[in-house]
Amino acid sequence: MDLSIIIPLYNEAESLPELRSWIDRSLKDFTYELIFVDDGSTDDSWKVIEKMASETVHGIRFRRNYGKSAALYEGFAAAKGEIVVTLDADLQDSPEEIPEMVRMIREEGYDLVSGWKQHRKDNAITKNLPSKLYNWTARKVTGIKLHDMNCGIKAYRADVVKNIEVYGEMHRYIPYLAKNAGFGKIGEKKVHHQKRKYGKSKFGMDRFVNGLLDLMSLWFLSRFGKKPMHFFGTSGILMFLVGFVMTVWIIVAKLVHQAQGLRFRAVTDQPLFYLALVAVILGVMLFLAGFLGEMVARSAAERNTYQIKERI
Ligand code: UDP
Ligand code: MG
Repeated sequence: MDLSIIIPLYNEAESLPELRSWIDRSLKDFTYELIFVDDGSTDDSWKVIEKMASETVHGIRFRRNYGKSAALYEGFAAAKGEIVVTLDADLQDSPEEIPEMVRMIREEGYDLVSGWKQHRKDNAITKNLPSKLYNWTARKVTGIKLHDMNCGIKAYRADVVKNIEVYGEMHRYIPYLAKNAGFGKIGEKKVHHQKRKYGKSKFGMDRFVNGLLDLMSLWFLSRFGKKPMHFFGTSGILMFLVGFVMTVWIIVAKLVHQAQGLRFRAVTDQPLFYLALVAVILGVMLFLAGFLGEMVARSAAERNTYQIKERI
């Protein structure tokens, strides 16, 4: 089978039949399966999916709403196609983009092709502008040159989705997860974007705060997840050194003044003393965090998982 089309959805009943026929019209030249993942919808979405179900149209229904990441993860696990495509259910992404994305993977050797909603049809103030800022940050942190990291429409070589684990709300950073797993050839394709026709957006402004925090976590995990002491130890040593130098300075200054019979302040009377104190304590605490981190990393089940590309 050529393609697995994964569609995560939460309360999108009105859109589904139209989406289905749009996909069928766009993918005439391929063999494919559709995998609808109903993320705990409270409307009629599941009924609609039940009606469409067949040999090549599958449905997975969550007991409650777990979020888009969980839905994608479950879809990835079920996918059987040679190339896996994700698509939002709300008719904002056009399935007509899929054939070109598939061609890029097959002929140009991309591991992953992400859509780029260059002319995005959402609210300019609440979505488009923050999204630009967010993507700029994501580019700097991840080193992946994508304009629209969190675009709903993406195509992957099947290997990629079988070897990454999307959890929490990490669906925003799948390209970063892929890169960290060793799938570094990541491309993008400009895609048409439509206004939402039915229902409403499932994500509010909090996505940007949470998205940023997730980005920081991923950055930390990818660089120091397996060696936390390298991070905490380095900053701990620096802090400790700063505190140490200040302490020595305070003592020496006092001794010198004393020896020369000059006036001198009590050690606790000067601001530097408190700064030194804070720096030394912080240094010790950072070290402590490092040791704890090492213990956590060592006892993690996946402390030594890496992926082998091939053997001869
Ligand atoms: N979605 C989901 N679970 C959620 C929230 C959203 O499966 O908890 C689906 C949603 O139904 C849609 C896709 O994720 O198919 C993208 O969501 P949405 O269109 O609300 O995002 P936006 O286009 O506003 O960024
Ligand atoms: Mg949408």
